[in-house]
Amino acid sequence: MDKCSFCGRTKDQVNLLISGVSAFICEECTERAYDIVNEEGINNLKKEKSKEKFDYTKIKLLKPRKIKQFLDQFVIGQEDAKKILSVAVYNHYKRLSQEVKKDDVEIEKSNIVLVGETGTGKTLLAKTIAKLLKVPFTIVDATVLTEAGYVGEDIESLLTRLLQAADFNKEKAETGIVFIDELDKIARKGDNPSITRDVSGEGVQQGLLKLLEGSIVNVPPKGGRKHPEQDLIPIDTSNILFICGGAFDGINKKIAKRLNTQLVGFDRQIKSQNVEKDNMLQYVAPQDLKSFGLIPEIIGRLPILTYLNPLDRAALREILTEPKNSLIKQYIKLFKMDDIELSFDEDALEYVVDRALEFKLGARGLRSICETIMIDAMYDLPSKRTKFFKVTLEYSQDKLKTTDSRKLRAV
Ligand code: ADP
Repeated sequence: MDKCSFCGRTKDQVNLLISGVSAFICEECTERAYDIVNEEGINNLKKEKSKEKFDYTKIKLLKPRKIKQFLDQFVIGQEDAKKILSVAVYNHYKRLSQEVKKDDVEIEKSNIVLVGETGTGKTLLAKTIAKLLKVPFTIVDATVLTEAGYVGEDIESLLTRLLQAADFNKEKAETGIVFIDELDKIARKGDNPSITRDVSGEGVQQGLLKLLEGSIVNVPPKGGRKHPEQDLIPIDTSNILFICGGAFDGINKKIAKRLNTQLVGFDRQIKSQNVEKDNMLQYVAPQDLKSFGLIPEIIGRLPILTYLNPLDRAALREILTEPKNSLIKQYIKLFKMDDIELSFDEDALEYVVDRALEFKLGARGLRSICETIMIDAMYDLPSKRTKFFKVTLEYSQDKLKTTDSRKLRAV
């Protein structure tokens, strides 16, 4: 009697017996085989994905001018920073795409520091670069890092997020960009190295050094210390680009002091006239970071230093409407999805800028002011038959007047 060649059950013991050239299979064994094939397939796929070699040449390497043109679409002003960043990023990825031979000149990694007041576009610049290159990108806040053993995140966990952003593809993560915000917050308090080591200061800088200079770091894929049992993934940081940002409050004075000392004995009168006193950051130099409390080794690992200008009236006005995904364009799009044509009077926009200047939060203030003005319209209009909505100066003033100004926060 015909029987299943796998389980041995006979024709009358099963519902279906499929015949092959010289064998039979019953429907139950077919199902089981199907499950095995499926599971194996997925497992193999997973294995392949994590092993997948990431090809550096896949990174679209644009020339510095093109990189800057891309940045121009999203970031207003900040010409010097955009230029310097474009060249640094170009060189960094050019370095990766070259095969290093033993006797070759080794191009050093060009990690970057951006010094500038809050809300002037530091994070935006780093984010936009990553978007252009389509490499994994993550933002971490230096203030949450502490030395191992103290409360907070370990330095290594900083790379966990990059690994996550890279879909756990190790090779891909190793070509990513990490933006370390608030670098200034881990500065040593004061220029005197003999000051007692502060928990969130020099120790963290030492830890960070290891990442910046390029080494193999064992990264907990799930982050934190909550999962001590997890397998660590070794990540080579040599090709990860670190962009650090910080407001470095008070560095102006250090820069001014340095410039003054340098000028003594020379034609001081003339030279000091040329110094633009209200934008001292443009003269920032590595020694100012040292006076601020960064250890020389860290400064050495962050060879590209540039600054961001404070945003003036004209820049804030442009930021409202000009970038490719400007705030106002976003509101217009949101309303359009409800078939409402939204427009803003010029004096309403000027009013928003004036209030943002008052708050001294750079472009961050714009968002919370706009939200306050728009919240009622966003709440009511979708359930009405309105087809057009114009935001006037009076409407904006009215909406802001009824809001407690203390509620306006930077976002
Ligand atoms: P920070 O310098 O504090 O990192 P961000 O880059 O986070 O500032 O800026 C906050 C927000 O302000 C951004 O999301 C962006 O919308 C806007 N913004 C800041 N600076 C600029 C700029 N130069 N051009 C366009 N938008 C900007």
